[in-house]
Amino acid sequence: MHELSIAHRIVSIADEAAREAGASRVNRLYLRLGTLSGVVREALEFAYGFATTATLLEGSELVVEPVDVLVRCDSCARDLPPLAPERLRCPECDAPTPQILAGRELEIRAIDYDTASPKPSTAPHVPSPVSSSTNPYSAES
Ligand SMILES: [Zn+2]
Repeated sequence: MHELSIAHRIVSIADEAAREAGASRVNRLYLRLGTLSGVVREALEFAYGFATTATLLEGSELVVEPVDVLVRCDSCARDLPPLAPERLRCPECDAPTPQILAGRELEIRAIDYDTASPKPSTAPHVPSPVSSSTNPYSAES
C-alpha cells in the first residue's frame, strides 16, 4: 500500500520535529495535499492510524488541507486552474499548460503538540552521600 509508506515517512518526520521541540505528544498534524500528489486522501488517513503507533503522534488527528491544481497559461499569460486535474489545458483558450504551479504538494504545514508540563519534583530522589564520620578511636592507655 503506497499510502502506508508515505504515512510512515510523514509521521517519522513529524515525530522527529516534535521531539526536537520538546513535545510530549502531538495532537494534530496539518498536511497540505495537492490534487496531483498521487496520494489518495482517504487511504492516507486510514494508514495514518497505523503509522502513528508508538510515536508521539499516536492518537493524533490528521488534518488534510487539499491544494487545488494551478497552472500557467503562456497564451493567456495567466495562472488559473486547468480544465480538470487530469486535463492540464487552459480553460480559456484550451492551450496545453505543462507548467504546474500548485497541486503536487505533500508537505507538513504545521504540527500541533503539547510540551511536557513541568511536574514538581519528578527528579528521582538521590540519597545524600553517607557521611562516614568514623572517628578513629585511638586507644591510649
Ligand atoms: Zn489560455
